[in-house]
Amino acid sequence: MTSTNTALPPRVRVLVIGAGFGGLGTAIKLDEAGQGDFLVIDKGDSVGGTWRDNTYPGAACDVPSQLYSFSFAPNPNWSRSFSPQPEIHAYLQDVAQKSGVLDRFRFGVTAQDASWDETDQVWNVVTSAGTVTADVVISASGGLSEPKNPEIDGIDDFAGEIFHTARWDHQTDLSGKRVAIIGTGASAIQVIPEIAKTVGHLDVYQRTAPWVMPRHDRAYTRAERLGFRFVPFFQKAYRTGIYWGRETYVPGFTRAPKILTPARTMALANIKKGINDPGLQAKVTPDFQIGCKRILISNTYYPALAQENVEVITDGIAEITPTGVVTRDARTGELSARDVDVLIVATGFYTTDQPIAHHIKGRDGRTLGDVWAEHGMASYKGTTTAGFPNLFQIVGANTGLGHSSMVFMIESQISYILSALQQMGAGQIAAVEPREDVQAEWNSDMHQRMSRTVWSRGGCASWYLDEHGRNTTLWPRSTFAFRQLLREFDIEKYVVTSRSNAPQSIKEQVS
Ligand code: NAP
Repeated sequence: MTSTNTALPPRVRVLVIGAGFGGLGTAIKLDEAGQGDFLVIDKGDSVGGTWRDNTYPGAACDVPSQLYSFSFAPNPNWSRSFSPQPEIHAYLQDVAQKSGVLDRFRFGVTAQDASWDETDQVWNVVTSAGTVTADVVISASGGLSEPKNPEIDGIDDFAGEIFHTARWDHQTDLSGKRVAIIGTGASAIQVIPEIAKTVGHLDVYQRTAPWVMPRHDRAYTRAERLGFRFVPFFQKAYRTGIYWGRETYVPGFTRAPKILTPARTMALANIKKGINDPGLQAKVTPDFQIGCKRILISNTYYPALAQENVEVITDGIAEITPTGVVTRDARTGELSARDVDVLIVATGFYTTDQPIAHHIKGRDGRTLGDVWAEHGMASYKGTTTAGFPNLFQIVGANTGLGHSSMVFMIESQISYILSALQQMGAGQIAAVEPREDVQAEWNSDMHQRMSRTVWSRGGCASWYLDEHGRNTTLWPRSTFAFRQLLREFDIEKYVVTSRSNAPQSIKEQVS
């Protein structure tokens, strides 16, 4: 799906960065609303974002695809309740093809620097293929797009093959090799059962044992698939059922962790079912409250750890040498070295310190990264940020979910942004940015709610929390509350610059 026409238009109304669910959905909805003057750039070679990049063996979604798909583009062809990555990537490519917006996508183009021009009230975006000027920038680069490598002494000197799960090296044949994997998060627990089938030996470096519940995955029956295709409302009812089922988790996460006790019981039973050895059972039993980190689902992870050719190592990694991994026993301080041919890092992503934030300069010349370094990511409704006029972020601060479909959140944000663009167009408005007091109030509410959640009180460290210990990633309420709050652009909460005043940068507040 590589765009053949790589020249960038120098001027567009809307520039969208990223062509995953967020960027693609935005493009389709902009087009539908008659706002066709947009450009989408993406550093990859096709639509799909994280579902294009994460091609590791076993990659699949933990949210059933009936819900983890656009509401406006249902797919009757999902093969299973939890779709594998290739199906999700193919779905997004298919939706993109059918929507007729791909002529405004440019692939292989990286956004390098975006700066707000206060005089002309536009964004100047320097990309790897030239500069684009836009009235509005929509950053849809994703919360889980920049792989994070661990900072371990000696890692750069490892002489074997080394790669991150999100950049899987399909040229490396793992058959019969000595392989090590660092991390036991959502990606690792999908990779491990797959590669354990073929590797000679697998060392699993576990820093924190995750909670893993059974995965109720199955192929859809022929009758179900026919129903999805031909029976009106069947798929919609199915989707709605999954949505509400997922939503019942929210009180357990946000207010009353005791509600998650049955989930804990199921996860403990999952360990016993998959592993007989009491020593290994103890090693993989988490020591924090379920829900504090993302709850994982797998039927094959524990049986894989119990295989003869797999070892779970819980001693901390002291260093990596050219030939392998050295650990230190926490009690005795004794060092142990294990040689490996291939090292796989499954250590997650930059979430609270997203690299793109360091390349977006607002009204006073400071980057989003600079501003957020002080107190952590902060925005209004996870979408707009004071000091950054006409910048909209999809999957911004406090919009992430641990229990349901991010596509639902993304669609809520798209409708909010569309409403903003419509109001700006109708009122001859040059720029909008949230009022500082409004943003401060929003974030204070977020963090007040956050203090009651299992993510803050569950006794774990996680990628949800930033360096200040604040949870700036997750949404602490129901997803329908989010949808309701973003139903319409609330212009009265914004500082508005009218077009006639723009050159003098005179701001007037519409109340
Ligand atoms: P992750 O959840 O952040 O897991 C990273 C793992 O690496 C953790 O076990 C972490 O240990 C470990 N780690 C990190 N730095 C380390 C170090 N220096 N030394 C040793 N261990 C280290 O990353 P992920 O598994 O890629 O998943 C990220 C998110 O992507 C998920 O939470 C989920 O939202 C999404 N995802 C979803 C799916 C799905 O739907 N099935 C699949 C993959 C990813 P600690 O726990 O001790 O920090």
